[in-house]
Amino acid sequence: MQLPIIKIPITEILLGKNVRLFLKREDLIHTEISGNKFWKLFYNINLYLDQAIKEKKIITFGGAFSNHIFTVSAVGKIYKIPTLGLIRGEELAGKWQENPTLRKAKENGMEFRFISREKYREKEILTKNLKKEFPDALIIPEGGSNTLAIKGIQHMLTDETKEFDYLCSAVGTGGTLAGISHYAAENQKVLGFNVVEDSSLEEKIFNWSGKKNFELISASFGGYGKISAENVRFINGFKEKYSIQLDPIYTGKMMQKLFEMIENNYFEDGTKILAFHTGGLQGIEGANLLLRKKFENLKVQ
Ligand SMILES: *Cc1c(COP(=O)(O)O)cnc(C)c1O
Repeated sequence: MQLPIIKIPITEILLGKNVRLFLKREDLIHTEISGNKFWKLFYNINLYLDQAIKEKKIITFGGAFSNHIFTVSAVGKIYKIPTLGLIRGEELAGKWQENPTLRKAKENGMEFRFISREKYREKEILTKNLKKEFPDALIIPEGGSNTLAIKGIQHMLTDETKEFDYLCSAVGTGGTLAGISHYAAENQKVLGFNVVEDSSLEEKIFNWSGKKNFELISASFGGYGKISAENVRFINGFKEKYSIQLDPIYTGKMMQKLFEMIENNYFEDGTKILAFHTGGLQGIEGANLLLRKKFENLKVQ
């Protein structure tokens, strides 16, 4: 994987408040491998591509709407490497075609194995068995979070990002926030907006990062993958006003919470806040399918 040629822009979100908010557009890195998933895979994939393995293969795990699953499938297509996705939920075996993320992943050439939720929880056993079955394959954990992923996140931070008081990101497995925390400048504070309720997140992030410069703020809005009408309206309003698309699983939730915090004067006057747009826009199609079942006339525009 090559470093992106474009310089990732930082855009001000004009609020008319006493604090200033900026968005770093990691979603623009690549049309398919976008956002933080690009950086998380960067060293994992590059080190693997450098190895003298004849029959390369990339294997990973994820849920049916996973940005990570889609991204790995795109990497496989671009580098002509077969990919295998272990997908949570046996019930999907007969109807994965109805799921836009899995359909796109399949078009990119990914093979699937559908795993029951019980077995999926035992990832260590699954991984051990996969290593036996495919000794030469690159096996990437769920969400792509591992030590090399955290090393890749350093590229989201540049000389330009040093001038901000706060660095903000949505949090799923925590790898991205751990990288931001590890590579942040000394005076910077890091805010993670967790969209997953997971009491072990803080410790996991600390173990990866080695620094305690971060704070987690709950932004799950009803749970991981749950989409509220209020948040959809927020995302659509944000797009209308700023012409930037957010996604309903990660960045939309982070931004709504961040707006609330700014409104409630969480930040001191004059604070400069940088939020990372970590991508995830492939998930909108799937989210709209779920929304259609729940609400009439409501979709992510
Ligand atoms: C995966 C993902 C995240 C969370 O990244 P983690 O490293 O798993 O915490 C945030 N935003 C988007 C758009 C993602 O796809």
